Amino acid sequence: MSALLFRSTNGQSPAVNLREAFLAGQAPDRGLYLPEAFPRFTPAEIAAFAGLPYHEIAARVLTRFTAGIIPDATIAEMCHDAYDFNIPLELIHDRIFLMRLDQGPTASFKDFAAQMMSRMFGHFFQEDHREVTILTATSGDTGAAVAHAFHNIPGTRVVVLFPIDEISLSQRKLMTTLGDNIRTVAIDGKFDDCQAMVKRAFTDPALAHIHLSSANSINIGRLLPQSVYYFYAASRLAQPGEPMAFSIPSGNFGDMMGAVVAREMGLPVRKIIASVNENDSFPRYLSSGVYEKISPSRNSVSNAMNVGHPSNLARLVAVYGGQMDETGKIHRQPDLAAMRRDIFSSSINDERTRTSLRDFWNKYQILLEPHGVVAWQGFLDWNAVEPLGNAPAVIVETANPAKFPEEVEKVVGWPPDVPAAITAALAQPEHHDRMGADYDQFRSYLLARHAPA
Ligand SMILES: *Cc1c(COP(=O)(O)O)cnc(C)c1O
Repeated sequence: MSALLFRSTNGQSPAVNLREAFLAGQAPDRGLYLPEAFPRFTPAEIAAFAGLPYHEIAARVLTRFTAGIIPDATIAEMCHDAYDFNIPLELIHDRIFLMRLDQGPTASFKDFAAQMMSRMFGHFFQEDHREVTILTATSGDTGAAVAHAFHNIPGTRVVVLFPIDEISLSQRKLMTTLGDNIRTVAIDGKFDDCQAMVKRAFTDPALAHIHLSSANSINIGRLLPQSVYYFYAASRLAQPGEPMAFSIPSGNFGDMMGAVVAREMGLPVRKIIASVNENDSFPRYLSSGVYEKISPSRNSVSNAMNVGHPSNLARLVAVYGGQMDETGKIHRQPDLAAMRRDIFSSSINDERTRTSLRDFWNKYQILLEPHGVVAWQGFLDWNAVEPLGNAPAVIVETANPAKFPEEVEKVVGWPPDVPAAITAALAQPEHHDRMGADYDQFRSYLLARHAPA
């Protein structure tokens, strides 16, 4: 079987196979990779997921993309190994459920993709012994998930940049206590500074001899594993062929693109609700057809979603037949009517986020955190204009409340329970390097670490 090809959303770079798309991260023309055509499941194939554990559903979905590149049996093994934690589906009321994606090793949904990506990078290294350095900037959750997933994976080194004053203690400790092939660098600056330094390194000719790759949400390897839990939820909660609604708290729109991928592969979907905080460039675009990014991005309590220009919008626009470049400029409008039929989007400000978190606790005795509650409130906004009826719906909770203890305690009056993974990290000694937001210094740092032995 010949391997699936991936093309760039900017349409200038040649189509490549999954391995090349994965190792490159971003396409040479600065676009994002998408499959030329999405593989499709038959309704019978989707119905068969009902009896399968999560890791087997993951293998069936992912092998549609990896066939011809990685043996199916290897993918099955990786999935079995990676997905050994629970994915609770908690009843809220009627047929509305909370899907908790916070039971992985770093207590956020970023673990789902990071755990798979590290295994795939490890596999490619075993094949051709090309060492790779994963360079990533983080505002908290991505860095922790990536550091954990790549710890001791042969052939990989990880360098994580984080803004010294902008991340919580538990987020920091989940990265800085690992050591070995994981280096963390505290930057005296903002997340935007960290991201700018990483972006520059990728295009710096002086670093061309170092094989750099990214694990951020532009990498196709990050997107594909994030489609699996939508199939999983439907296999447990919907009748065969019955469409369901998903509400997803969105920042870079990688998680919600997972739902779009699942829909393109044949999963019946009633509505995808992209719930955002005050960074409302997408809901404005969906209603007006005019895209204006928010710059600088607005700070809010759901800090993992403080994204003024979601990078995955280029992919969403492409799926609907349009073209948006990496700066947010639209070269060809997508089919906006079809997009509005499939997707709803609502912006929730901090005041509504806090009120909703308290109300939700009082009404259902279920504890959310600032990201998941944005999804809940976005769902209510949608349901007010388009009643759900008796259809099933899932609200996606993307992090454990213990990652945001101050905010949660302020609202409900007591601190959330801390999962074992976080307690363990908090007890470990940490080590990180530190520097100013100075690109030349960062380049020297990378060069020193990659000097020939
Ligand atoms: C990253 C993150 C999000 C946003 O996910 P995107 O794929 O960037 O839209 C939401 N919630 C939490 C807790 C996150 O860490």
